[in-house]
Amino acid sequence: MKASGYANNSATDKLKPFEFDRREPGPQDVVIDILYCGVCHSDIHSARNEWGHTHYPFVPGHEIIGRVRAVGNNVSRFKAGELVGVGCLVDSCRECEPCKEGLEQYCENGWTGTYGSEDKIGGTPHTHTFGGYSDKITVSERFVLRVPDNLDPAAAAPLLCAGITTYSPLKHWKVSSGQKVGIIGLGGLGHMGIKFAHAMGAHVTMITTSPAKGKDAKRLGADGVLISTDASAMTAAQGSFDFLLNTIPVGHDVNPYMGLLKLDGTMVIVGAVEALTKVSGVPFIFKRRSMAGSLIGGLPETQEMLDFCGKHNITCDIEMIDIKNINAAYDRTVKGDVKYRFVIDMGTLAN
Ligand code: NAP
Ligand code: ZN
Repeated sequence: MKASGYANNSATDKLKPFEFDRREPGPQDVVIDILYCGVCHSDIHSARNEWGHTHYPFVPGHEIIGRVRAVGNNVSRFKAGELVGVGCLVDSCRECEPCKEGLEQYCENGWTGTYGSEDKIGGTPHTHTFGGYSDKITVSERFVLRVPDNLDPAAAAPLLCAGITTYSPLKHWKVSSGQKVGIIGLGGLGHMGIKFAHAMGAHVTMITTSPAKGKDAKRLGADGVLISTDASAMTAAQGSFDFLLNTIPVGHDVNPYMGLLKLDGTMVIVGAVEALTKVSGVPFIFKRRSMAGSLIGGLPETQEMLDFCGKHNITCDIEMIDIKNINAAYDRTVKGDVKYRFVIDMGTLAN
């Protein structure tokens, strides 16, 4: 099946038009005409090979919203014309304990990412998966999600990664009404962290390096704003948070943030995969604090998150772009100049 998209060919190459093949639908497959695709910071890390394992040509995109074009003979949950989503995963072993529990993102035999993963399903004409910056995609039914009809499809696209990556740790660490939660970094993930923590009843503080984002943080649902570069404000806030969600996209000094936690508080890292500089034992030992990590979310929890968004009318704050402007959007994201997620209107591919 012929497909069009945008790809780059090296870490320093710009994204540009690219024609390729998608696999023809097998019995379990859903073919989706892509309407919108969010621009995650992970797309940029990968396109620029900042994590060191990118295969070129590389088609990014794992925040996909589209309409079902066709389904295979054994597909029971979807039919043509329905609004659906695809996130970061398109396959996993389906047999290990995490997969059986619906935690496919922790598959012990290696899950298949929507882009840049070795494709283990037969019939694919290329060795690595190509993502959602394209007009269509073929995905196994288990990895396709239902999108509530009341949500604006474009503003729902980033829920598929930014949404689930923030929802999952808030649920796993049982954030609830009355707790004091800090969201660190107001970007694509951070703005969804605020919305979800607020909807779960927590008292939410936006912890940001950008004083100019304070007003927006409150509009998004934050009760307070803490400027992380203001040493005296950080000192005054020591020992006051139950839970911190850290979305900073690069390695950094976590010690000032750890000190913000109360007794038994937890900080969850979702952004940085690089080394975190010299973590002191003091904040862990003296108040029994923890630091943990979390990776996106499994399929059942992603569906739960989408349904939660449908019920609470939660979508993302987006800036829609023509795919021809994708390279400028990458540069702006890296500078923190996005409110709060770029979404590609895939209709612009044909222009
Ligand atoms: P983003 O839109 O670029 O937002 C990141 C925000 O972090 C920035 O807007 C900025 O907010 C803050 N920031 C940036 N550099 C900083 C620095 N050096 N020190 C302190 N704060 C800094 O990125 P995103 O799409 O939200 O993604 C965030 C990270 O999560 C990326 O690394 C991405 O790859 C990763 N990610 C992880 C998962 C997972 O499953 N764990 C899933 C998706 C994405 P302020 O201006 O408010 O300070
Ligand atoms: Zn992502």
